[in-house]
Amino acid sequence: MNISPVEVTYLLASILFIFGLRGMSHPDSARRGMTLAAAGMLAAVVGTLLVKEIVSYEWILAGLVVGSLIGAAMSIWMPMTAMPQRTALSHAFGALAASLVGIAEYSLHGAELGGVRIGALGFEVLLGSLTFTGSMMAFSKLQGLVSGTPITYKGQNIVTTVLLAVTVTCFAYLLYDHSASIAFYVMISLAFLFGILLVIPIGASDMPVVMSLLNSYAGLASAATGFVLSNNVLIIAGTLDGFSGLILSILMCRAMNRSITNVLFGAFGSVTEDTVAVAGVMREVELDDVATQLAYARQVVFVPGYGMATAQAQFAVRELGTALESRGVTVKYGIHPVAGRMPGHMNVLLAEANVPYSSLYELEQINSDLPSTDVALVIGANDTVNPDARDNPKSPIAGMPIIEADRAASVVVLKRGKGKGFSGLENPLFYKPNTGMLYGDARGTLQSLVQSVQKMQ
Ligand code: NAP
Repeated sequence: MNISPVEVTYLLASILFIFGLRGMSHPDSARRGMTLAAAGMLAAVVGTLLVKEIVSYEWILAGLVVGSLIGAAMSIWMPMTAMPQRTALSHAFGALAASLVGIAEYSLHGAELGGVRIGALGFEVLLGSLTFTGSMMAFSKLQGLVSGTPITYKGQNIVTTVLLAVTVTCFAYLLYDHSASIAFYVMISLAFLFGILLVIPIGASDMPVVMSLLNSYAGLASAATGFVLSNNVLIIAGTLDGFSGLILSILMCRAMNRSITNVLFGAFGSVTEDTVAVAGVMREVELDDVATQLAYARQVVFVPGYGMATAQAQFAVRELGTALESRGVTVKYGIHPVAGRMPGHMNVLLAEANVPYSSLYELEQINSDLPSTDVALVIGANDTVNPDARDNPKSPIAGMPIIEADRAASVVVLKRGKGKGFSGLENPLFYKPNTGMLYGDARGTLQSLVQSVQKMQ
């Protein structure tokens, strides 16, 4: 059997992608996984440069230089908090690339491509185009260029479904008459429009699930491109990307106790009327009292949330942890799977601040520890510690697993004021007698706590 050098590099790239993905399944091996995946991408690029049919290396070089410069600038200057938007942009461009390849192939070869390839090509262009506009819309919502609240109107789901039906009909006609270029271009235009309509009714905070789904579409579009171009590495990498995106979306929905259809069509986040009546008052506490409480505790559990990300407080969290540990306090970090605004948000931030993985505890593990914890320090988390999800079957977030901070002997909540969480719901935890509210930006508050703890004997 005669295997070309191109095929060998593609095989190597595919193996590296698979091991890379495997590595990313655990925080300990995630960095190694990323390096393996990057090496796989390098192998795929080198393999592609060996392809005989390449017409001009100048254009490829120009693309490489421009792309590398943009990538380097993004990695250096884009803050960690903008990571979701950045991911949306890369999905958008990946999908646009797949779509443009499909359009170029069809305009060059048209009906000569034959039924099977036209089928793959139509699939590629359809998914690529809707993913491009959908991801751009997700980017605009996350960046605040478009309102982050769900944009809804009467009959919305019907309009979107009819549009999808017409788009698919154009595709079906193209399969029947391969030379029907009008059907091809109408299908592309409608797919662009569909991407926008699909994402506008979804709230900014549901964007991670949507982006993961769009990632899956972009991956499947790339796999289809692989069929059109007879390129094995695109088929393998696209399929891996497509299915990992889908699995991630399902896992995120499960962690929020919601279905994918509820995320896509439920307009979650447009809740304006609170269905929860809370009794009691929020008790404000003094910083020095909290410092004393923490310093003399036996065990403290930090529960970080979205507020830690916006305050960029991960380094201050680590400093406080170290200060407490040096006094003999056991410090643990309770990580909720959907704390923050993207999967693994807290893990990424805490890893950046060099918090050891062994101190991070998943939801089930930390919940069994909380009843024997002296202080639960909630750092900019809200929905993920809302006891209503557990206690109130009528709550919109009923059934969502939570970190049971309320089971600790004492709870201290760091937040700026009376702002609500992503769901817009009241949180009864803040009104409990054993909860104290320490107001202020999380980073500043934590830095003052560190100083206060360090001053103690
Ligand atoms: P959250 O419910 O969004 O609450 C964040 C809290 O942080 C707010 O109440 C806010 O109160 C406070 N805050 C904001 N900036 C702050 C600052 N600079 N300093 C101190 N506090 C600050 O957060 P969460 O508990 O992490 O929950 C995440 C939510 O996002 C969940 O409902 C989850 O379902 C949803 N979600 C997550 C993902 C994901 O992949 N992670 C995906 C989709 C949806 P103040 O305004 O009063 O400060």
